[in-house]
Amino acid sequence: MFCARKSYFLWLALLWGSLLSASRSHGRLDLTVEAGKKLLKLKQQLAGTYVTMSNTYPTMGKWKDAHRMRSEMKKHGIQKESGCSWVEIKDATYAFYAGDMSSCTRGTEIMNVLRELELRMKERGYVSGSKGLVFIDVEEEAEEAIVGLHSEKLALGFSLIIMPRGMTIRIMKNLRMCLNCHEAFKLISDIVKRDIVVRDLNRFHHFKDGLCTCKDLW
Ligand SMILES: [Zn+2]
Ligand SMILES: [Zn+2]
Repeated sequence: MFCARKSYFLWLALLWGSLLSASRSHGRLDLTVEAGKKLLKLKQQLAGTYVTMSNTYPTMGKWKDAHRMRSEMKKHGIQKESGCSWVEIKDATYAFYAGDMSSCTRGTEIMNVLRELELRMKERGYVSGSKGLVFIDVEEEAEEAIVGLHSEKLALGFSLIIMPRGMTIRIMKNLRMCLNCHEAFKLISDIVKRDIVVRDLNRFHHFKDGLCTCKDLW
């Protein structure tokens, strides 16, 4: 009896788990929340569900719910995995960690490139860290600086410095890109006139001429 009951729960969790990731990647926020609630009720896939929910609520403008998710995560001792991006250039792999300049090869040059890009993006109306585009755990006043340091941006800055002009930049990332970086990468692909491919946790993004192949179903 116990086994049958247990496998029923696991099966249910599997079902809701696939619905959660499918609806999230198709931008169906209402379904995402619904599936997330079921999973939390079943006490299954907690870490992934909390992270998805706490990133979904802000995009719906539901800041209170997002905060609630974050505090429940803390209560359960669940921490967000830190972001890491890497590029492979001429048989060498270079890794970059969110907000961590100490591990960065050519850190100062990368920051200069990113700062210049930020200025050029602002000229086109890009607002870094605008509300709703940033994960909830980023403090308001530090938003701009921190978002500027997401690992894929560091990897991009580095690639722009060392890769020859015109060559496609390919970046891998262990988590999903945030919407803010996604917007930034679209603009940057147009500013620097380069193809940029990012393989994140969910899918491939091919940025070119200010657009992405995911058509923003990111
Ligand atoms: Zn980001
Ligand atoms: Zn995309």
